[in-house]
Amino acid sequence: MSFATTQTVALLQELVRIESINPSLSSTGSGEQKVAEFLERFCVERNLPFEFQAVADGRSNFLTWVPGENPDRRILFIAHMDTVPIDKWESDPFSGEQREGRIYGRGSCDTKGSLAAMLTALSTLGERKPKSTVVVAASIDEEFRKIGARAIARSGVSYDAAVVGEPTDLELVVAHKGSVRWQVEVEGVPAHTSKPHLGVNAITGMAKIVSALDDLNRTLTSQAHPLVGAPTLTVSLIEGGIELTTVPPVCRIWIDRRLIPGEPPQKAIQEVENILESFREGADKIKVRSLLPALEDPAPDSAESSKIAAVAATACADVAGTGKYIGVPYGTDASQLSLVGIPCVVIGPGSINQAHTNNEFVEIDQLTKAVEIYQKIMLNY
Ligand SMILES: [Zn+2]
Repeated sequence: MSFATTQTVALLQELVRIESINPSLSSTGSGEQKVAEFLERFCVERNLPFEFQAVADGRSNFLTWVPGENPDRRILFIAHMDTVPIDKWESDPFSGEQREGRIYGRGSCDTKGSLAAMLTALSTLGERKPKSTVVVAASIDEEFRKIGARAIARSGVSYDAAVVGEPTDLELVVAHKGSVRWQVEVEGVPAHTSKPHLGVNAITGMAKIVSALDDLNRTLTSQAHPLVGAPTLTVSLIEGGIELTTVPPVCRIWIDRRLIPGEPPQKAIQEVENILESFREGADKIKVRSLLPALEDPAPDSAESSKIAAVAATACADVAGTGKYIGVPYGTDASQLSLVGIPCVVIGPGSINQAHTNNEFVEIDQLTKAVEIYQKIMLNY
């Protein structure tokens, strides 16, 4: 193994060994702070400047940087420290075990592998000075509400471009979907189920609405975006009723609506509102309403025509034979950065098929190539 590979592998193993499950997703999750504190020691040992950015109670983003030739230009490399919870693993999810040319562990691919590669790329620049100032940020809360990336986007420091580390198999992602999620509630009237005509069944009402939303989902296929495909609408959760022998007085669903670039969350909500209105006005006079505010995560603008995409394409092609502009259906920290106008690309080691799974791993070969790709972008942007 080359020096850079040994270094990246060792760093990734240390990161995996620090449990950093997002506390909003699991009550026993430790959060990101121990990772940030580890990164502080990493920077002190290497004489790199650093900063903690407090975002929420006991949870901070961590930033380190190398100044560029042009002090007015800044490029952000960002990967998140939080992970999703663990389910049924065959081995210790926090071992960072190396076997078969892979590193195993929760977060190894999503996204501690990207983080380790970015930090190795930054800390081994040596005498080579980047054109723009390079900032590497380790963010919190990507897996839930992305408040870490939002804080970086709104910190008052401006960035000319961003590279977001997520498992893309080293492919160059220039566009991805966003999402908007909210609840819809039907209100009925309770009654004894021996005399159901005295009540109004909220579940029956909701069934009609769910069916209409399914029809809406089918019409969305006609709006396909060339890189990310069509928007989608999924009714992902349903709850209703209170007990066996009462006509259900309430029924609620969660809607998960995936947005394509250029599609505002408000538009998606309004489409559903129009359907709800037709049921309120229709023969059934269903009492239905959206419970807002929604969880909004807009799709970033496509970066196809940006300088960062061009620079990244060359780096990906040189190192990994990738670099064709592609789009993906999942969301990343790019959505928050794009809201303040930062053009973003997403590149990282590992496969999205490994993310959030049991026995998550990242290939060491991809990890090494990611270091090279990131370093080329750092030097050439
Ligand atoms: Zn993830």
